[in-house]
Amino acid sequence: MQLVVENLTVAYDNIMALHGISFSVDKGEIVTIIGANGAGKSTTLRAISRMIPSVHGSVIKFNGENILKYSTDKVVSKLGISHVPEGRMIFGNLTVTENLTLACFARKDRDQMVKDKKWVFDLFSRLDERKNQLAGTLSGGEQQMLAVGRAYMSGRKIMILDEPSMGLAPLLMLDMFEALKEINRLGTTILLVEQNARLALKFAQRGYVLENGNIVLEGKASDLLIDP
Ligand code: ADP
Ligand code: ADP
Repeated sequence: MQLVVENLTVAYDNIMALHGISFSVDKGEIVTIIGANGAGKSTTLRAISRMIPSVHGSVIKFNGENILKYSTDKVVSKLGISHVPEGRMIFGNLTVTENLTLACFARKDRDQMVKDKKWVFDLFSRLDERKNQLAGTLSGGEQQMLAVGRAYMSGRKIMILDEPSMGLAPLLMLDMFEALKEINRLGTTILLVEQNARLALKFAQRGYVLENGNIVLEGKASDLLIDP
């Protein structure tokens, strides 16, 4: 198991957001956690990327190492865990290329960075055509592609994504998931949380269903999909 989460418990003030959930992701897998609004999906990802500091009694391990001793930036630069948060988090007044370059501030391997940037532009031709455009002027779908491209540039042992389908037109959604499949094929493990259960289960190998902070169902994605 590459990522192991045990008994993940998160409370905001007196609201329990996660009631001790456990799940794992194997190296090379695409795993999805599906659930309705408020189920605790974003909270789960924020805990893994260490944006939620206090996770009482929980275990989060990546490649056998305890993640909880690292800060957010070390989780990215040392462990290679990249987070694509909900809301995209790109710099609207920087160009597409500048956004990608900024994602690698912690990297020293210049030659590889140049190759990776080229690869991102190959993967997302819409970004390639808009290299020098300000990111804030991109469509929602293009901004989401840029957010994924940035995550790929920053760390890619595992990529965790918060609702990559959110706000995308149906065709762009498919493009996005095909791109994630390609990223996965080249060696990045993927954990994604989604409200769009049908789409997520179509692309993932395994899934977990989160309800009010509890995992209520888990299994092969094709078994969770009622009407394949
Ligand atoms: P999801 O991503 O599945 O929509 P969230 O993880 O965002 O769910 O939220 C889980 C629960 O925690 C919800 O009840 C939400 O209102 C609550 N919550 C999320 N973030 C905060 C916060 N910063 N402060 C207080 N409650 C929060
Ligand atoms: P995100 O899922 O990216 O956090 P949201 O719209 O859920 O986006 O939340 C925006 C901000 O409000 C986040 O900082 C989140 O932690 C916080 N938040 C979400 N739900 C609650 C809540 N019930 N009470 C207080 N803060 C919340």
